[in-house]
Amino acid sequence: MEPPMTDPDSTKSSSTEPPIEPSIREPGRLKTQDEMRVALRRIRMWENGGKTEPVTCPICGAPGLDVEDHSARPYSEWYFVRCASCGLDDKIHIASASRSP
Ligand SMILES: [Zn+2]
Repeated sequence: MEPPMTDPDSTKSSSTEPPIEPSIREPGRLKTQDEMRVALRRIRMWENGGKTEPVTCPICGAPGLDVEDHSARPYSEWYFVRCASCGLDDKIHIASASRSP
């Protein structure tokens, strides 16, 4: 775990998104691209585990992330993720990339 960064000019992110202040962070939401990416990785792990193996929370790292697959394949993928430890309660939408001709 890294100590919280207070430098607003952090150059580690190359995105054009405005910086997100910790004070406006909503609990239970995936805010950043990094969090989304980690959450997706967890979901893939969950899928690869036959959707029965518990995975860890992308936010707080607690085991037992609750994942629900609400996908409408092949058009899109929807996953609901919940964590009882940190209050994460969000959904992730993945537009299907497999329909390209
Ligand atoms: Zn959590």
